[in-house]
Amino acid sequence: MLKGKTALVTGSTSGIGLGIAKALARQGANIVLNGFGDMDGPRAEVLAAGEAAGAQVAYHGADMSRVADIEDMMKYSASQFGRVDILVNNAGIQHVANVENFPVERWDSIIAINLTSAFHTSRLALPAMKSANWGRIINVASVHGLVGSAQKSAYVAAKHGIVGLTKVTALENATTGVTCNAICPGWVLTPLVQKQVDAKAAEHGISNEEAKKLLLGEKEPSMQFTTPEELGELAVFFCSPAANNVRGVAWNMDGGWAAQ
Ligand code: NAD
Repeated sequence: MLKGKTALVTGSTSGIGLGIAKALARQGANIVLNGFGDMDGPRAEVLAAGEAAGAQVAYHGADMSRVADIEDMMKYSASQFGRVDILVNNAGIQHVANVENFPVERWDSIIAINLTSAFHTSRLALPAMKSANWGRIINVASVHGLVGSAQKSAYVAAKHGIVGLTKVTALENATTGVTCNAICPGWVLTPLVQKQVDAKAAEHGISNEEAKKLLLGEKEPSMQFTTPEELGELAVFFCSPAANNVRGVAWNMDGGWAAQ
């Protein structure tokens, strides 16, 4: 379905971004990976996922808190595959503390990586999408783009912000073939959440399994983690012709979290 298209997925060396990159590669899209840590493993996984469909894979290690890096990554993506047709703004970090104890530099990093980077990638991707009259911008927000949780001020502010950015980007392009939508996952068991499971286990002196149940039980009525594979399929749907007129939504996949 996406043969000949190029998808740039930020923060795709791990977790949800990797799941989305694999799902898009399976549909034939060429993928530009981005993120920190081991890159060979994720690249091999995405290549394997896209092999049957002939997808190619490139990588750029831009730090999403640095505008110059982002500009370089956008130029690199265009030079590799012509242009970015599908932009998935996924890179994100978390820090947990009360407002009065929140480290100022953590606040600044979370706003930069989880929110401002999406403004920069979008502003740089939109001109080519508009001239092709086709494009998909998918912002990985969170259920925390819809509701709050204590001790997550920067994260919740950034995620509410990216839901707002999603709506404005969708509206500005509503008469074109360029759509912009947000995905709002509940708990997904990635390294970002495992840290919170570990903290709960240590705080209560309980096992990893018990801590997972406690975490789910506090927020997610389904008592199930959403998976990167499920989120990948939602991204594929947003790229499909059936989603041509889905514009500016914040689509939660959260086991009922936001329905409460
Ligand atoms: P993760 O820690 O598994 O992956 C984060 C990715 O972002 C990694 O590839 C990492 O290298 C990259 N990254 C971090 N800082 C970066 C930077 N400065 N520049 C470039 N890349 C950077 O986390 P995840 O759970 O897969 O999270 C992905 C996105 O999904 C985030 O935006 C997160 O807020 C969102 N999300 C996660 C959950 C969850 O439960 N895990 C729920 C809702 C939303």
